[in-house]
Amino acid sequence: MSNARSCEHIAAITKVRGAQRRECSECVKTGASWVHLRVCQECGVTLCCDDSPNKHATKHARATEHPVIASAEPGERWLYCYPDDAFAEY
Ligand SMILES: [Zn+2]
Ligand SMILES: [Zn+2]
Ligand SMILES: [Zn+2]
Repeated sequence: MSNARSCEHIAAITKVRGAQRRECSECVKTGASWVHLRVCQECGVTLCCDDSPNKHATKHARATEHPVIASAEPGERWLYCYPDDAFAEY
């Protein structure tokens, strides 16, 4: 991973998890809408971004302490670590 020297979480990822389904797994339960999708690299759940009303990816990271998400958007290849506020393209 490039630009990940300051974050051991991103540096430890050897295979980036993608979205299994193109939907936020929390928003679909309530019929809510989302803007962009993110994938937790710890457990593989697909959740919505901070531009979305429910911000499920950030809530999940805070609640579980799962540190790293990847964008699930087509053409985007990046990872973000919450505790280190670190961003890396791959
Ligand atoms: Zn980190
Ligand atoms: Zn959501
Ligand atoms: Zn997770």
